[in-house]
Amino acid sequence: MSTAVRVALPVPLPTLFDYLPPADGRIMAGQRVLVPFGRGRQVGIVVDAAVTSERDDSRLKPVLQVLDDEPLLDGELLRTLAWAADYWLGAPGEAFAQALPLALREPRPLPDIAEEYWQLTPAGQQEHAAGRRRGGSRDLLGLLIEGPRHADELTAALPAWRTAARRLATAHLVERCPPPAAPPRRQPPTSLPLSAEQRDAVTAVGEAFGRFQPFLLDGVTGSGKTEVYLALIEQALAEGRQSLLLVPEIGLAPQTLRRLRERLGVPVEVLHSNLAEGDRARAWLRARSGEATVVLGTRSAVFTPLPRAGLILVDEEHDASYKQQEGFRYHARDLALVRARELGVPIVLGSATPSLETLANAASGRFRTLRLRTRPGAARPTPQVQIVDVRAQYLDHGLSPALLAAVRETVARSEQVLVFRNRRGYAPVLLCHACGWHADCPRCERPMTLHAGQRQLRCHHCDRHAPVPSHCPACGAGALWPQGHGTERLEEALGALFPDVPVRRIDRETTRRRDAFEHLLDDLRQDGPAILVGTQMLAKGHDLPRLTLVAIVSIDEGLHSVDFRAGERLAQLLVQVAGRAGRADRTGRVLLQTHHPEHPLLRTLLASGYGTAAATLLAEREAVQLPPCSHQILLRADAHHRADVDTFLAAAAAALPNDPEVQLAGPMPAPMPLRAGRHRGQLLLESSSRARLHSVARPWRLQLGALPSSRRVRWSLDVDPIDLY
Ligand code: ADP
Ligand code: ZN
Ligand code: ZN
Repeated sequence: MSTAVRVALPVPLPTLFDYLPPADGRIMAGQRVLVPFGRGRQVGIVVDAAVTSERDDSRLKPVLQVLDDEPLLDGELLRTLAWAADYWLGAPGEAFAQALPLALREPRPLPDIAEEYWQLTPAGQQEHAAGRRRGGSRDLLGLLIEGPRHADELTAALPAWRTAARRLATAHLVERCPPPAAPPRRQPPTSLPLSAEQRDAVTAVGEAFGRFQPFLLDGVTGSGKTEVYLALIEQALAEGRQSLLLVPEIGLAPQTLRRLRERLGVPVEVLHSNLAEGDRARAWLRARSGEATVVLGTRSAVFTPLPRAGLILVDEEHDASYKQQEGFRYHARDLALVRARELGVPIVLGSATPSLETLANAASGRFRTLRLRTRPGAARPTPQVQIVDVRAQYLDHGLSPALLAAVRETVARSEQVLVFRNRRGYAPVLLCHACGWHADCPRCERPMTLHAGQRQLRCHHCDRHAPVPSHCPACGAGALWPQGHGTERLEEALGALFPDVPVRRIDRETTRRRDAFEHLLDDLRQDGPAILVGTQMLAKGHDLPRLTLVAIVSIDEGLHSVDFRAGERLAQLLVQVAGRAGRADRTGRVLLQTHHPEHPLLRTLLASGYGTAAATLLAEREAVQLPPCSHQILLRADAHHRADVDTFLAAAAAALPNDPEVQLAGPMPAPMPLRAGRHRGQLLLESSSRARLHSVARPWRLQLGALPSSRRVRWSLDVDPIDLY
């Protein structure tokens, strides 16, 4: 027994590690330390500065170096992270590593976070007056003539300003300067007068400032949820408090960021995984110092330190991308709730299509519901969805006459159309018409998608690529037929049908480059008719003011899925896609092609809206005791040999204590039994008691790692899995 320092290290082991304190004894929880580990060294975080270790001094190694003068993580984050590692059954070290931007996981001192301001030199002022410069240089001189400007402001006004700054700095015309005495708070443009519903929502949350209270902001698409967030952030700012706004994906960040910057007149920090590591670390540190008052970010931004927290907002709370699907499998929305509770601040979960989990919490009274039922401003009712029954209809490239007529009318009025199809590529299947052979991925045993532009077959499950065969490999016939329609094929068909209208495809392929998506969207904010063909990337909150028709080509796959969440997902997707129509001052129209117009979910959704459809789905979950009316933990395993998976899962099942309150399903093959050449299986634990489930799973998890058969498989535990794949 000895007094030791307990450290979280970024390794996938379910433990913390003890070390001897440094010689001078000065060490605090939350500091980073460099410690010996195995044959090398690791940067860890002190979780507890003085523990009684089970091991004796002689067996403990000393901390090599304390890297920070002060704790990098405060008490609240330390507690929340410990809670998170325990709840999601993750390795504690991995949970702690998640919280730190990569650049801070290196044994280096913290980067400089001094604010970056630029100004003109006297020579620069003369240069501006002389008006000799052109292009970016002239623009930058023009921006600085009124005084020093913050780097963020320059980026917002002139994205390529750094090139010009480098050139002008070399010529001694501009220079970095200390922050002006009082940071210039630009006069924010006056905000929109809020609607009565918006005002009620802002008042309700405002009254909860200073204490923990979760809210569901349930507002139809385009009802002005973002305006409510803005008003609340302004209120927090006025009290000198920090706000954290989470958005589901990077694609949404630029648009929201522009709105925040224009409105708030203070620097807004952005945190997402596409950022350069240094920038990410600096933004994180500015939040930690309390200097950053507004933080906008995606999933991992939920770990941002908030010493002066006032408010947490989670936009599109139903979105699946809040769940991390590998490594440490946390859910950012759920973690945000825990942080809000620890911080004692209100939290707002916003959505037009709330998850059933959140609706259940609202129904039980844990969350307060705030509703926005109408679209404020001009007369823009939410669009009505109209079913196009395509049974026995002639389809032109999968498009019905009714749908094509609507497209034609819309572009003739110089308006824009979104043709929605949630399948990338040209055709989902390549089929031999002579013998019925079709191209399958040998590593997944699923059809490969034809990508005509790339002349490739691609497996969307493992990313395997293969050339397109010219003849059927089975019978030698020459006629291979693409079956079904992906976005690429629809783009081609619509281009041929409407040669005078620009047709743009927006999916993962066309938006691979960093700004491609923004550019495409900017394009569409211009005047003139256009046809967009897109996948669900477009379903997420993008403001496309000129869009008046949404044509949904097919969603029938979603009606037959085995996943118990398929109905919920489909309802959310339909409502979100439909919500893209008619957001500006024009009324929108939505057409849905289907072979199943009588499907009960579609009927409820169209007749009574998302709220009723979700209530029906929730009642079904209740009846069969599925989440959120019960709780699940999924053990997944995969290996090159099926037998290894089976042996491990059998041993895992045997190791589970018998508990009448915990039900076990499996071992069973995963819904996709083979993926990327690996055999997959799973074991599902279910219980109506979350506490009971965890009390069984915690010791079980340690046993799993000790099973000899665990060495022959890759395995993971997923608490509250959001899909069973
Ligand atoms: P949501 O986040 O719910 O989709 P937004 O906040 O993006 O909705 O608002 C949708 C549109 O309605 C935006 O163009 C916004 O400027 C406008 N809007 C929001 N609130 C008001 C209001 N009170 N008065 C006028 N227009 C508004
Ligand atoms: Zn054939
Ligand atoms: Zn594959």
